[in-house]
Amino acid sequence: MNLQSLIADHFRLTEAERKGLKKLGIETAEDMLSHFPSRYGSVSEMRTIAHLAQGENSTVFGRIAKLEARKAFRSKMALGTAELVDDTGKIKLIWFNQPYLAKMIPEGVLVRVEGKVSQKRKANEFYFSNPKIERVEKIPMSAEASLFGTESDAHHLHPVYPETRGVSSNWLFHAVQKIIKTGALDFVKDQIPADILKKYSLPSRKTALIWIHAPKKEGDARAARKRFAFEEVFLIQLQKQKEKKLWKSESAFAIEKTDAQIAKFTERFPFSLTRAQQRAIEAISTDFQKGTPMARLLEGDVGSGKTAVAAATAYAVVSSRPEGQSFGNLQVAYLCPTEILAKQQFENFISFFSHLPINIGLITSSGCRKFPSKVNPHGATDISRAQLLKWVGNGEIPVLVGTHSLIQKSVKFKHLAYAIIDEQHRFGVKQRKALVHKDKIVPHLLSMTATPIPRTLALTIFGDLDLTLLDEMPPGRKPVHTEIVLPNERDATYEKIRRELKNGRQCYIITPRIDEPDPAKEFAVQAKSAKAEAKRLKEKVFQEYEIAVMHSKLKDSEKESTMEDFKDGKIHILVSTSVVEVGVNVPNATLIIIEGAERFGLAQLHQLRGRVLRSAHQAHCFVFTESKGRAVAERLVALGKAKNGFELAEYDLEQRGAGELSGREQWGVSDIAMEALQNLKMVEAARAEAARLISEDDTLSRYPLLAQHLAARAEEKIHFE
Ligand code: ADP
Ligand code: MG
Repeated sequence: MNLQSLIADHFRLTEAERKGLKKLGIETAEDMLSHFPSRYGSVSEMRTIAHLAQGENSTVFGRIAKLEARKAFRSKMALGTAELVDDTGKIKLIWFNQPYLAKMIPEGVLVRVEGKVSQKRKANEFYFSNPKIERVEKIPMSAEASLFGTESDAHHLHPVYPETRGVSSNWLFHAVQKIIKTGALDFVKDQIPADILKKYSLPSRKTALIWIHAPKKEGDARAARKRFAFEEVFLIQLQKQKEKKLWKSESAFAIEKTDAQIAKFTERFPFSLTRAQQRAIEAISTDFQKGTPMARLLEGDVGSGKTAVAAATAYAVVSSRPEGQSFGNLQVAYLCPTEILAKQQFENFISFFSHLPINIGLITSSGCRKFPSKVNPHGATDISRAQLLKWVGNGEIPVLVGTHSLIQKSVKFKHLAYAIIDEQHRFGVKQRKALVHKDKIVPHLLSMTATPIPRTLALTIFGDLDLTLLDEMPPGRKPVHTEIVLPNERDATYEKIRRELKNGRQCYIITPRIDEPDPAKEFAVQAKSAKAEAKRLKEKVFQEYEIAVMHSKLKDSEKESTMEDFKDGKIHILVSTSVVEVGVNVPNATLIIIEGAERFGLAQLHQLRGRVLRSAHQAHCFVFTESKGRAVAERLVALGKAKNGFELAEYDLEQRGAGELSGREQWGVSDIAMEALQNLKMVEAARAEAARLISEDDTLSRYPLLAQHLAARAEEKIHFE
């Protein structure tokens, strides 16, 4: 086999395996070799049934017998039981709420069972409760070895792979070993320049592949993982550094406003700026003067005052003239993810600019507005789209706020000098490009986000942007009072909420999912769903209040009207999933319940909590957890203590296992790269090396493998969009 060999050509695959491999994205030998173990189990955990001890995490191999599915006597909970038999004895297996398991595993087959050994209180009898179970073709050698008591390779590390239905970790292990035995690794080439490997003591790609799939000792596995982590971060950095160099080679309007001039504008604000806001404004105005386009990310918790930074710097732009011109203004585009936010920021900008002769426009799919109105110099008025586009095109409207409508081709500026993207995580690269490529002259770009991410991750995935943190909240803000609520305190908490609702406050309830899970289909997750929870609360707890549901599957128009009703106080309790409407301002909503908190990252919990930070009233956050584990409790306690979201993001990264970070879903980086992100030194090294290569030669002509890789990556990205 070589690296491009198709798995399907070399393995006799069942239909289930075929589907499973497809789901894992494995087609070729190379894909298979790149499917890394998520951890290593040591065979010493492997036991015979006779040697099991209470409380131990153990793996046993055996045959399934006496399969039964029924309802539990009192709780009516679906119950599946079976017996596992090996040469030394038998043990009971019990699954709660997973009736489909019985359908998946017929009696008489060989299985691998992994879980914690429990003991019945009275009887002297062991059982596994909700163990992991998978079919195996045969009992592995190492298990047989320990079955026979010869502990020869008992400390051998066996890789545990991310698996999916149809493709078990065990199957993957044997497949990978088979590929390695055919000599496929001889075709492996190393993309990373040898001097870099040497400098950081990293193994070659070939060695690392052997070490990651079949480590002899822990150190090997660690070195291999480090190498692949470095590789991924290095490759991302190369691409970002290249984009950055390209961006900086463009020209932009130079904007010469002094800090004193900007300060004159911000003095009129109804508050004085925080130090962090001042620093951000200074960094931006320094970039403005350079004549090359700025690309900056402004990260700040919800409520840290990003709008004021945007407005102050927008002022510097619109009060400047195009070079060599004695009339007209430079222009600003302000892109928002939703219509509600766009309207809100339009109003905000009016209040910041109303004392100046500056026209402000609003464009959304439902219409256009302009400030000031001809008849009412203090208010805005509806205008036609054609009229608005004309005034934007001739420069008469220097500030244009809008939703996606703003990036359509038909929107042409006269002198667009500054593009601001609010809640940038809601937009893709494509939209960013559409916004900044409106003209030959590239605008300065400010991306703003409230998503707290660790510094190493920001340096990596936003490696093409310069970073500014707003790590300080405006003074006088009362921190949200955060309480961890145990299952038996639920009713008491509802009473507290009722008291606040009676005083006219409103409440968010966040649930981990939209719908109830289909127990026949999925591994039944015991988590509350927005729909069912809303129904339950309306029927059983808060009968006297209006309750509505909010989630990503609603139509945009439904979301917006629900949000409007909530804002207007027509809805008292909004039951919502975590995905919607981060930036919306409903000052009267001072209560938030987060259900199933153990299923969210800390940074995410913090961000959810930020929704109730908008009022002078004391805000309360009630964190409900079904978990009784110590680790969960400790994590949640950190939520009460942390000063800002970034601290929590760092803590998350430190505390959670790589598998839990879901880097791929959330950030498009692999689990192994997430491991790298726990190591600031490594990320900085990868970044420095990438920057060095790109500054020497951005075509990477001395490194054809890297150049090829970057070209492929760029292509992939275009397809992706
Ligand atoms: P975000 O960073 O979430 O976009 P906003 O810009 O919406 O935050 O600001 C949140 C609130 O804080 C607004 O009501 C704003 O007027 C207020 N604010 C911003 N900066 C300050 C400050 N330096 N002092 C007091 N209040 C401020
Ligand atoms: Mg904002």
